[in-house]
Amino acid sequence: MIFEGCAQNAGLGDASLMALISAKADRNRTPLNVHLELTYRCNEQCVHCYCVVEHGREQEVRRHELTLDEIRGLLDELADMGGLYLTLSGGEVMVRPDFFEIAEHARRRGFAYRIFTNGIGLTEAKVERLAALEPLTVELSIFSADPAVHDAITRVPGSFRRLMAAIERLQRHGLRVYLKTVVMKPNIDGLAKLDRLGKDLGVFTHTYSCEVSPRVDGAVPRGLGRKLRDGIEFEPGVSFRDTKEKWNELFERRYLAWLIKRAEGNISKAARDADMDRKYLHKLLRKHGITGGETSDDNN
Ligand code: SF4
Repeated sequence: MIFEGCAQNAGLGDASLMALISAKADRNRTPLNVHLELTYRCNEQCVHCYCVVEHGREQEVRRHELTLDEIRGLLDELADMGGLYLTLSGGEVMVRPDFFEIAEHARRRGFAYRIFTNGIGLTEAKVERLAALEPLTVELSIFSADPAVHDAITRVPGSFRRLMAAIERLQRHGLRVYLKTVVMKPNIDGLAKLDRLGKDLGVFTHTYSCEVSPRVDGAVPRGLGRKLRDGIEFEPGVSFRDTKEKWNELFERRYLAWLIKRAEGNISKAARDADMDRKYLHKLLRKHGITGGETSDDNN
């Protein structure tokens, strides 16, 4: 009630507290939400990754990464400016030997933070240490319920098995596990099975994305480039940007059709399931000519 009063005084009608805080942060140019990529290195080599350097080049790129002192200084500045939400991402954050010192500093400076990780380096000892630092969520990438498909995307044999072990550990230590899936050609036919796996695991939430991005150096992700050439869309001479747009459109349509089918045609439910704004989902559905109740023949 008090907050509603504040919102009304601020001319925000019945806006939520969060909307009030965001509006104030926008006005004051406060970096409320911060996404920090700590490294270009990763122990996986996903086909679609925009960020990670090939194995063998780790030492070379390491010198381009911020040092622990620089990161601490940056977090201090952000905290002093009013930063509240922090995402620690990579690459793979766990490949940094100083990761826990970074997370401890973030905690000390009062950030509500979450961690993006592929999970394969999360030993029992690391999970215990993580649990003591109380992140909001630990967000892990999963690409398929089929270990062979998942491992083919990460290009690390055994990565699915290690991911499952990490999820079990995280949940046992009371951490909120959030699964995220990039929808791509190799995994799109297995979404229903993957969705069931997320539910069986009892994860906090599971979201899907159809977005892939050019690499940080502007190149086509290596594996993805090959996939596009082997697949249906890549034409020599067509820019990656155009190809990517076509590719994303195609997968977006199939994903949306599946989402609506899963929600039995109920758009509000589909939006809730996908953690999406309902109006935005509506707009996407209109763009693709999908009506509530349309089903996909791709996933069953
Ligand atoms: S786990 Fe994440 S950071 Fe590592 S290669 Fe895959 S997409 Fe890139």
